[in-house]
Amino acid sequence: MISLVIPLKNEALTLKPLLEELINIQKLCNKNMEIILIDDGSSDNTWQEIQKLDVSPLSIKALRFSRNFGKEAAIYAGLSEATGNPVIVMDGDGQHPPSLLPEMIKKWQQGALIVEAVKSKRPPEPFWKKICTAFFYFIFKHSTGLDLRTATDFKLLDRKVVQAYLNLPERNRFFRGLIKWFNFPSQTIPFEPQPRAEGISSWSFKKLVSFAWSSIISFSVWPLRTLMLMGIIGIIGSIGLLLQTLYIKIFGSAAPGFSTVIILQALLGSAILLGMGLIGEYLSRIYEEVKGRPLYVILEQLEK
Ligand code: UDP
Ligand code: MG
Repeated sequence: MISLVIPLKNEALTLKPLLEELINIQKLCNKNMEIILIDDGSSDNTWQEIQKLDVSPLSIKALRFSRNFGKEAAIYAGLSEATGNPVIVMDGDGQHPPSLLPEMIKKWQQGALIVEAVKSKRPPEPFWKKICTAFFYFIFKHSTGLDLRTATDFKLLDRKVVQAYLNLPERNRFFRGLIKWFNFPSQTIPFEPQPRAEGISSWSFKKLVSFAWSSIISFSVWPLRTLMLMGIIGIIGSIGLLLQTLYIKIFGSAAPGFSTVIILQALLGSAILLGMGLIGEYLSRIYEEVKGRPLYVILEQLEK
């Protein structure tokens, strides 16, 4: 049996057409399919739509979160509910074409543990988003060594991969990055994401920035390294200043040092502040992990 995990936030309009497509695909593949829908705190009629769905011969499991916990939590919940092998994760907004499923399954049968649909072209999007995502991927690649430029969350995962993912101890998760990080044998299928069928992307600028930041911090100690580097450069600079101050003092010109003090203070002050901020950032991660709060809370669920 194949499991499909679909996170949904305010996708009442796209859900039905998507499932109709999936029914057709199921006929093509001729495999049992279970669909796991996660309603991630939608404020529209997504849950009502799920209740109304009739998609036999597919079976449906649906979870409704008590509030919006984010796509990462929804994917995690879906993967833990999935019983099939392989498990496919896809968006519920119509941007991930189900027509790729047969090819994904074929590549899996040929031995790939991960089959990832990669963007051959980015969908049309606002200019600011292009700039910001390019910047994020640049930083991410240079701080973690993982190139995620064309990566998407549209992936087929072998049960082994799902198990490995669920077994990871961390709470702050970045699905796309972690799956790459395993380095399991994988294959890619290029596709062109469609524009969103309905509604708007639920990523605001603020959410994207915070997601990007959190992904980088949870993946690398690179910001800490930068701090150390800045510390080293700062110290070298300070030694130079110190020598200059001493020279001026010894060889006599009057009231030297005033500007030096200011410079030193500014330098050290900012380095210390920055350092504390960064340490606080990592500390907050430790705090998150230690708190042990559940990744999600289920409001209700159903099975058909
Ligand atoms: N999604 C979710 N929780 C969220 C935000 C998004 O479950 O807090 C779902 C959404 O319903 C969709 C998928 O994640 O199925 C991708 O979201 P979206 O299309 O908004 O993101 P984009 O395609 O712009 O990356
Ligand atoms: Mg989308």
